[in-house]
Amino acid sequence: MKHLSEYRDPGLVKALLSRINAVTTRPWVIMEICGGQTHSIVKNGIDRMLPPQIELVHGPGCPVCVTPLELIDKAIAIASFPNVIFTSFGDMLRVPGSKKDLFMVRAAGGDVRIVYSPLDALALARQFPDKQVVFFAVGFETTTPNTAMTVKQAMREGMNNFSLLVSHVLVPPAMTALLDSPLNRVNAYLAAGHVCAVMGWQQYEPIAGKYHVPVVVTGFEPVDLLNGILSAVTQLERGEARVENQYPRVVSREGNMSAKNDVTEVFEITDRAWRGIGNIPRSGLRLREEFASYDAEKRFAVDSITATESPDCISGLVLQGLKKPFECAAFGNRCTPQTPMGATMVSSEGACAAYYAYHRGDLNLTRQ
Ligand code: SF4
Repeated sequence: MKHLSEYRDPGLVKALLSRINAVTTRPWVIMEICGGQTHSIVKNGIDRMLPPQIELVHGPGCPVCVTPLELIDKAIAIASFPNVIFTSFGDMLRVPGSKKDLFMVRAAGGDVRIVYSPLDALALARQFPDKQVVFFAVGFETTTPNTAMTVKQAMREGMNNFSLLVSHVLVPPAMTALLDSPLNRVNAYLAAGHVCAVMGWQQYEPIAGKYHVPVVVTGFEPVDLLNGILSAVTQLERGEARVENQYPRVVSREGNMSAKNDVTEVFEITDRAWRGIGNIPRSGLRLREEFASYDAEKRFAVDSITATESPDCISGLVLQGLKKPFECAAFGNRCTPQTPMGATMVSSEGACAAYYAYHRGDLNLTRQ
């Protein structure tokens, strides 16, 4: 398949691995930001093929994984109201809240529906004018423009039975928060290609400059990822730190200006809690005052709900590259995709789910 098979070419993979081996002389820790990249790395065994000096750690770029527990509880509270149709991407329905998940609300008679776009939720609002339709707006910069355009459309149509539970987060503040941590292990980042398709890569230039950390924009196929790793290691070995774009077939320096303008028109930056990690200043988005009437937290008065995370789940440490999933005592026994204790075991982009799916349960197997 064009634009796919050539990025899975075994000959190219072999050649890139040989070049990575040739340039690597010291230990380096490289973090891929995005959970989609984590799954590709684990599924294709890329981490096992690298020289032993290179360790890949898995970043917080899984929106389902970092949605805070209290917001899941708020979603459950809203979905339990009698006149509500609560809509969400599928993964969110299985994420455990403090006491239950959204599937349980549905099983108890709540009208909880899976949608594939916020526009699907808006269509439901048109179809059921007597119901309140709420969309759980979760995601990074990749999905935010869709949400922004949907709110603008709702406003144009004067709809008052549609609202959003907003959990949109931003990648660069999370990257700097990890680098600011005294526990930081990251020497270089692989930045997520799809986020950069919207935002461009210039947003990473201040990070590379201030922290002297290479940032390489990378795609999702094995050749993309190995090109990114080669670029990162080459910079590290030379003592360089700049942004490189290894995904030029999709990403430009400026990104999609139209999408960025829509987001800026509808949302403003705010502090945001990340599940397992805690509060990261200026890392989230909230609706601007002009669009505040579409804020489900206000409409349903759930602002005051708070929650405490289970001390047994170490997903926050996994998402900061400080632990691997198999280092969690619950991994594969008390916590499985069928009985998830944390969001990283639920999400199709979660690191724990990837390690479980591809049998990475044993420390001794990770380097074979
Ligand atoms: S295995 Fe389960 S409990 Fe452990 S960190 Fe992952 S999600 Fe949390």
